[in-house]
Amino acid sequence: MTAHDDELYQQVILEHNKRPRNFLKLSPCTHEAEGYNPLCGDHLNVYLRVDQGIVQEAAFYGDGCAISKASGSMMTAALKGKTVEEAASLFEEFRKLVTRELDPAVPGHHLGKLTVFSGIWKYPSRVKCAILAWHTMKGALDQSKTVSTE
Ligand code: ZN
Repeated sequence: MTAHDDELYQQVILEHNKRPRNFLKLSPCTHEAEGYNPLCGDHLNVYLRVDQGIVQEAAFYGDGCAISKASGSMMTAALKGKTVEEAASLFEEFRKLVTRELDPAVPGHHLGKLTVFSGIWKYPSRVKCAILAWHTMKGALDQSKTVSTE
């Protein structure tokens, strides 16, 4: 990772933390789950409105650090219009990205702008902050009500 990548990462986190997208309690919704990251104290809910297998709306709401909020913001933006299967595979790709199992430079993934989260590699203790919204979203799709990163 270059210095430029780290700068871009910091910028994106700050910008999304200041103005998070889709930061609301979505009602009505078809899927909902509550997620905790006890390590940092992040606590957020993820809401999805799925119709005919497609995520029509995605939102999140709660309290958390800048990274958990920026991740929720970018995740909900990325999910809209995706099928439930695509959302689940995007979760897998994002999980692999933040745990360094996926190299964003190698084509074949569908992460798009989410590759900026490779910036987390420099801050391994914050990986759970970055992935909380995603685990919670996956929990919502799997109909689990509460998700913990621990
Ligand atoms: Zn956090």
